[in-house]
Amino acid sequence: MSLLTIRNLTVTYGTGEHAVRAVDGVDLDVSAGEVVGLAGESGCGKSTLALAVARLLPRGASATADELSFDGTDLRAVDDAGLRALRWRRLSLVFQGAMNGFNPVMTIGDQIGEAIRAHEPGADRKALRGRVDELLVQVGIAAGRAADYPHQLSGGMKQRAMIAMALACSPDLVIADEPTTALDVMTQAQILDLIRRLADELGLAMLIISHDLTVLAELCDQVAVMYAGRIVERGGAGAILTTEAHPAHPYTRRLLDCYPRLDAGQASISGIPGSPPDLTHPPAGCRFHDRCPESLPRCASDDPAIRPVPGESGHVAACHLVVGEVAR
Ligand code: SF4
Repeated sequence: MSLLTIRNLTVTYGTGEHAVRAVDGVDLDVSAGEVVGLAGESGCGKSTLALAVARLLPRGASATADELSFDGTDLRAVDDAGLRALRWRRLSLVFQGAMNGFNPVMTIGDQIGEAIRAHEPGADRKALRGRVDELLVQVGIAAGRAADYPHQLSGGMKQRAMIAMALACSPDLVIADEPTTALDVMTQAQILDLIRRLADELGLAMLIISHDLTVLAELCDQVAVMYAGRIVERGGAGAILTTEAHPAHPYTRRLLDCYPRLDAGQASISGIPGSPPDLTHPPAGCRFHDRCPESLPRCASDDPAIRPVPGESGHVAACHLVVGEVAR
């Protein structure tokens, strides 16, 4: 059953001729206990989608959707009190670069405790300390480090502490935006292991946002690939990102080629020539057509609908090379 349901979500920044449609008609589901990855280049709309779900869009942005619901609650209609009750307790976020968001003059333990106290005002002080220690141990930090200030922790430990904070009120869904950016490769691997272990042990649903497909390949059950504000491919991570993978969309294939895959014997990597389109004036036809090496004459004028990839249940792609019935 879908915990988070998104149908035809559109987010626009600004108005008039300078309006940018950063997310354009996106459909996405995250089921209970499922880890879903959202991939794509910088500026494709991934973080905007997360902010729209959490109702944290900045002033000047407007969102519309046919459906935007969390466990049956219509997120479009929730008032401020409802949002406060929902955030952290049911749905929490680990923001991009969040490890630098700790208050430098408060201990890590006090900051995690504060997040709990905000939702459980009557929480007993001793019980609160015990809970903070438990959370730190859960993410691989010794309980005694609760008394440390942020500058006393390494980057990896700060990120672990941020994850502990996101788990503080036992949410059902965690949205993590680029959770391993700015970490070295070894620490990145440890954080990925931690996230996957926590998702399995706690039965958490997660929406992991990353430009790095290798990160998503390690973590996710399902993957959606975004390009220029739209989802262009969706399906099981095994069908899209593994060694035997056969992504149906040329953009996903190019994105995969940007990363070395030693297990697949890929000795070199290649970038994607060109830049994503200007979303104040998106091009006609397929938005990837001027960068696509497989482009057909019709691609410059005919916008491809998202269609099921033949023979693969739950795998869909928006490309004229995919032949099948139009799906949503
Ligand atoms: Fe390439 Fe055409 Fe498919 Fe777009 S629709 S990805 S331009 S082949």
